[in-house]
Amino acid sequence: MRLVSYLDGALERVGVEHAGRVRSVEAMVPGGPRTMAELLAAGPGMMARLHLTADAPAPDIGTRLDELALLSPVPRPGKVVAVGINYLEHATEGGREAPAEPVLFAKFPTAVVGSGADITWDPGLTTAVDFEAELAVVIARDCRRVDVSAALDHVLGYACLNDVSARDLQFADKQFVRAKSLDSFCPVGPAVVTTDEIADPQTLSIRCLVNGQVMQEASTAEMIHGVAELVSFCSRAFTLEAGDIIATGTPSGVGWYRDPKRMLHDGDEVVVEIDGIGRLVNRCREETA
Ligand code: MG
Repeated sequence: MRLVSYLDGALERVGVEHAGRVRSVEAMVPGGPRTMAELLAAGPGMMARLHLTADAPAPDIGTRLDELALLSPVPRPGKVVAVGINYLEHATEGGREAPAEPVLFAKFPTAVVGSGADITWDPGLTTAVDFEAELAVVIARDCRRVDVSAALDHVLGYACLNDVSARDLQFADKQFVRAKSLDSFCPVGPAVVTTDEIADPQTLSIRCLVNGQVMQEASTAEMIHGVAELVSFCSRAFTLEAGDIIATGTPSGVGWYRDPKRMLHDGDEVVVEIDGIGRLVNRCREETA
């Protein structure tokens, strides 16, 4: 099942996408949840009911996906936990060793936007904006101290994520939060694809394209710490809540470490694409004073 959040006028809504069309959950389950937050709060019973309805889709029902103003499938997660160096070749291109344990940092929830939204920045603040294609893990329910063997049971599904990074701020600050939390620096989407459709999150092809040119291309099989290990590792330190997002790290090929460097500029189109999940498309805009 492919869950999307979108704007219906000024109202946020959650829907199910099938074959390029979106039906609101509210229409599929009368009196049901209207937003992703309400859907997550309704629990596994509601999700199971929705699966049954979604598995018998009627053609030509709903709104065309490409006519909707998409939000991140979870428009305002409680937290976005990001994983530093989690692909060996990305560690190598940055001149670093593979870490023995996951290295975590945070992106502020206010950075989250959906597919189709602009990535924007003030050119007086940063002139080194970079892309990082990542697999996003969306947590299904609140959990703490989860074993690796049970970790995937706590995952709702997967999405594409762009861990947009202001490299000049990152290296000046010597840590990540400001550089990776500018408004619009966490595009997520287009949908969250539920785990029943992704048999193994470690077999997915992931790539990043800038203006149609492939900049990153890898398999999630190359992750140093896999999804189950990351969920378990996080949950040993803090509570993971329904709707929280884990950004699982980026492969090699980011703009900063290319020769010559390839930073993002006004007008660039960035696509993060993961097979079986979809394409997250965002255009870059420098803010004018
Ligand atoms: Mg990253």
